[in-house]
Amino acid sequence: MKLSHKLAIHGGEKTKKNPFGTGKRFGAEEAQQLLEALEQNTLFYHFGSKVKQFLSDFNTMYSVPYSVATSSGTAALHVALGAAGVSVGDEVITSPITDQGTVIGILYQNAVPVFADLEPYSFNLDPKSIEACITPRTKAIVVVHLAGNPCDMDPIMEIARKYNVKVIEDCAQAYLTKYKGRLVGTIGDYGCFSTNDFKHISTGDGGIVTVNSGDEADYHLTHAFADKNYKRLGNDLNRMPESLAPNYRMTELQGAVGIAQLTKMEWICEQRTRFGNAINEGLQGLKGLTPMQVAADNTCTYWFYMFRLNEENLNCTREQFCDALHAEGITNRMGYIPDVVYMQPMFQNKQAYLNSQFPFDLTDTTYKRGDCPVAEAILQTAVQVPISEFYTKEDIAEVIAAIRKVTLYFQKL
Ligand SMILES: *Cc1c(COP(=O)(O)O)cnc(C)c1O
Repeated sequence: MKLSHKLAIHGGEKTKKNPFGTGKRFGAEEAQQLLEALEQNTLFYHFGSKVKQFLSDFNTMYSVPYSVATSSGTAALHVALGAAGVSVGDEVITSPITDQGTVIGILYQNAVPVFADLEPYSFNLDPKSIEACITPRTKAIVVVHLAGNPCDMDPIMEIARKYNVKVIEDCAQAYLTKYKGRLVGTIGDYGCFSTNDFKHISTGDGGIVTVNSGDEADYHLTHAFADKNYKRLGNDLNRMPESLAPNYRMTELQGAVGIAQLTKMEWICEQRTRFGNAINEGLQGLKGLTPMQVAADNTCTYWFYMFRLNEENLNCTREQFCDALHAEGITNRMGYIPDVVYMQPMFQNKQAYLNSQFPFDLTDTTYKRGDCPVAEAILQTAVQVPISEFYTKEDIAEVIAAIRKVTLYFQKL
């Protein structure tokens, strides 16, 4: 590809020649499944066969014994926390760079999120920081495999066993992601997935919790927690709950779409891995920019691609860099979320519920600027580019060429 060096933002030739590749996520397979679901004359998961089939297919793909369907990824995480026994006044360690869904369930269980710091270029939890956050109140760790890049699970599981805390994997962005050959979502006690419309696969909204202990009682507990704590499985059937649980049921319509979506998942993840890895390789060795760190023995399935700028080596601000990249025809955005989760007013004011400091007043946890310096620095220097399974090889070549062109232009000599 021949490139003019003059930036498009300065009137030079645009790097991106044709629009990014697009495609249809839903087709005749989904329509057929939906029709079959309607013909059952029930859309209730427990009476129909679609959610059951969806979970059974998922269990086979993941080689897990049990899983439970939910109404969202947020719900999946809440269910896992409930099943893990997280309750009033417990502390749950998690990542400050994540979707809101990671912390919602913690607070609804009246437990308190504690934020550990991240590794600078994988954007995932730093095991040493997790260990430093452990207190006698710690009940669980929710790890987030951000952007489809696996967390360093071996040391994390070691810490969890040492302090007897549960591990919940937030795999909402990490379908078919592998850590040292093992699928993430099968390593901790529970793995939580989202099938909201922005994830690798979509059922409109929805979620899955894997129950990795292989213990049937654990499975029944998890299943009940997604369905008002009604016991619908096993020998001890009853609808007289012993404790509080929400209704997070998935409907047969979502299950039906999910069955069809699972048949496409492998291709979707392979495409994303290929494209993300190509960008990652294409950006190596550039002064002024650090690519995403994916360990050699891991597989990232790139829900998005993110790199960091080293502004001390560039004659531009991040905003100028992003504007120049936009002008080259490359969609991008600064960072991932506007700020670390603990800077939200909810945490700064320690007020999750109206007119109450509960449950924050049950622990000594505090939230202030500087708590997780690496995470804060990531959000101040990161640039995100979207990845789609429908992109073409040209699209990826142009993404790389445009980022290189902008970086080389602004690079300090
Ligand atoms: C999407 C997402 C969630 C929440 O999933 P929903 O289905 O939108 O509730 C949780 N955690 C992470 C990391 C996510 O990306």
